[in-house]
Formats: sequence, structure tokens, C-alpha cells
Amino acid sequence: RRAHTYNFNAGPSALPTEVLEEVKEHLVDFQGHGLSIMEMSHRGKVYEDVHDRAISDLRELMQISDEHEVLFLQGGASLQFAMIPMNFLAKDQQAGFLLTGSWSEKAEEEARRFGKTRIAASAKEGNYQRIPNPGEIVYDAADAYLHVTSNNTIYGTQWATLPEGNGTPLVADMSSDILSRQVDVSKFAMIYAGAQKNLGPSGVTVVIAKKDFLARADRDVPTMLRYETHVKSRSLYNTPPTFGIYVLSLVLQWAKRQGSVDALARNNAEKAALIYDVIDRSEGFYRGHAAQDSRSLMNITFRLPTPELEKAFVARSVQEGFLGLAGHRSVGGCRASTYNAVPRAASVALCDLMRDFAQKNG
Ligand code: PMP
Repeated sequence: RRAHTYNFNAGPSALPTEVLEEVKEHLVDFQGHGLSIMEMSHRGKVYEDVHDRAISDLRELMQISDEHEVLFLQGGASLQFAMIPMNFLAKDQQAGFLLTGSWSEKAEEEARRFGKTRIAASAKEGNYQRIPNPGEIVYDAADAYLHVTSNNTIYGTQWATLPEGNGTPLVADMSSDILSRQVDVSKFAMIYAGAQKNLGPSGVTVVIAKKDFLARADRDVPTMLRYETHVKSRSLYNTPPTFGIYVLSLVLQWAKRQGSVDALARNNAEKAALIYDVIDRSEGFYRGHAAQDSRSLMNITFRLPTPELEKAFVARSVQEGFLGLAGHRSVGGCRASTYNAVPRAASVALCDLMRDFAQKNG
């Protein structure tokens, strides 16, 4: 048993307790084979079954058709920032970027090392408080792809409706909201996400890529950095992060037991609404960073009247078993990350804490 905590960490973040118990139960002797899953060959049938099941469960949950490949890579979403332009952006080509926060900036900066980049819309002015309207996006048919960050983990904004590609291949960093709501995968040339928020432990990066987009890739890229290498070998070209993929497979099975991605989405919307409601009713004691229509259902960012009160709030939260409520080091303030595995009861407890703190310090 673990100490009673409310885990609002931004990533790595809460995993379902059920999954952790399952890992514990099978850790030393996996399914009676006399060894841990960590000690098995990635070329053996036992591991390969786990691996294949993770792929098919993700396909089922996200309704991914045969038009797309599902890959498990390493290097985090950060390596995708470079690997995508390496494969799909030649020196003389350009790609478009929708700038909605620090992670989109990083993606754009990496792409600049390989080809030309263009800002198709930006919310930087106004400190990334809002998501651009569809009408603000400037499309250019010359773009090799258009890159979007679906949820901005640090600023706490999210595309309520994901943008259209308008004929340009759409590439999405969904690191902090994958599997939190149903998206139409068929609209994306590529979706990528580090696993450590909604999918499992760090060390696994999920890539979902359209076959006709993959066919455009540059062949003159080192073997490990070519998507084709991993497609051909079902992500078993070299030793994959077997333990991480195993835990990811258990998280996907857990997600299936919750009913559907829509069921997870409803629960996420409720958990976030509870907290935003406390912010909105606090008569200005709490101020949300995100504009109302751009609010993230995954990362709820807010400020208190003074930095001192923010410190006192975080200190009290820690005393009461809340983890991870300090904002990202680059922006300060407070942030509650309410990913799939964060139970509704944690949101309710946070609301009680916020109301009480405001009453005593307002
Ligand atoms: N994109 C987003 C939206 C993120 O939230 C993060 C990590 N918090 C990253 C990219 C970087 O991911 P990684 O640490 O897996 O490289």
C-alpha cells in the first residue's frame, strides 16, 4: 500500500493504482515463466505477444485504421522534434508551425536545423494565453507539413477543436492529451506522444503515422532515425524499452475497462470543470492563465494574488498530500495536471483545499 496522495504531477504523472498493483504482482515471475518480463528476450513469443497486444489495443481505443502505422520509439517527444524534419523536411523545403507554447517553439527550432520553417499562427503575443482561431491560420500549399501541439502542458491551453490541414499533412504533438479524448486519426499525417502522461512510464514514445506520408521520407537518414526501419520491424529493429511497453499495454487494458475514450473524455471534462469552477467563483483570488475558450482539460494553470501566497498554497498542499501543484519552472504559478489516471476524488479534494485556502487568505 502506498501513502495517501493526490498526484497532480505534469509528467511523469499518475498511473492507475490498479496497473501498478498488476505490475507488482507479476514483477518477479511473469505469468509463471519463472522470470520477470524485464529479463526476457524481446525476440521471444511471450514479450512479442505483449508488444503486439499494446499495438492492437491502441488501434482499437483510438480507432486507428490500416492507413496508419503504430510505432513505439525511444528518445521522447523531443527526439520527434528532430526526427520529423530529418525525414520529411529537405533543406530547400518549408514546414508550417502553429506556435502555442514552449513545446511548439522547441519543435520549430529543431526543424530549422534541417529546412525552412514558417509560423502559420502564433499565440506568443499575450504569453500563450489562448489558442488561435481557425481564421488566423495562414496556410501555404508549399508546406511539407503543418505542425500543431494539441495541448500545451506548461501554459495550460488546448485546441478544443484541432485545426484542419487544408491539404497539408498535419503533424501533431499529442504528448499531453493523447487518449484523453477521441480524435479523428484519419485527419493526421502523424501523431506523436511521449508515454509518460496518459499512456504509461517514460521511455516509450508512441508514433502513429500515415503510410502515404511515410512514403515521402528521405532515405538518407541514419538507420535508427528512419521511420521506415521501425515500420519494417514492427518497432523491434533493436531492443525496445520492453518494460515500458509492457506497462503501457496494461494502461491501455485499463483504459479499455473504463469503457471507451469517450468515457475517459467525459470524466476528464468533469474533473477539469470542478477546478475551473472554483477558480471562476473565487472572486479573483485564483486567476486562470488560459483564456476561457482555450482552457486545457489536462493542465489547469492558475495564479494566486501574490507569489508569497502561491508559495504558501503549494506548501500547504504538500502537507495535505497533494503532489505537483507548483507551476512549470519557466512560468511559475500553480498547475494541476488531471490526466486520465487522476481520479475524480483528487479533483474534488483539490477544490476543497482551494476553497478553504481562499477563504482563509482572501
Ligand atoms: N511536447 C509536450 C507537449 C510535452 O508536454 C513534453 C514534455 N512535457 C514534450 C513535448 C517533451 O517530451 P519528452 O520529455 O518526452 O521529450
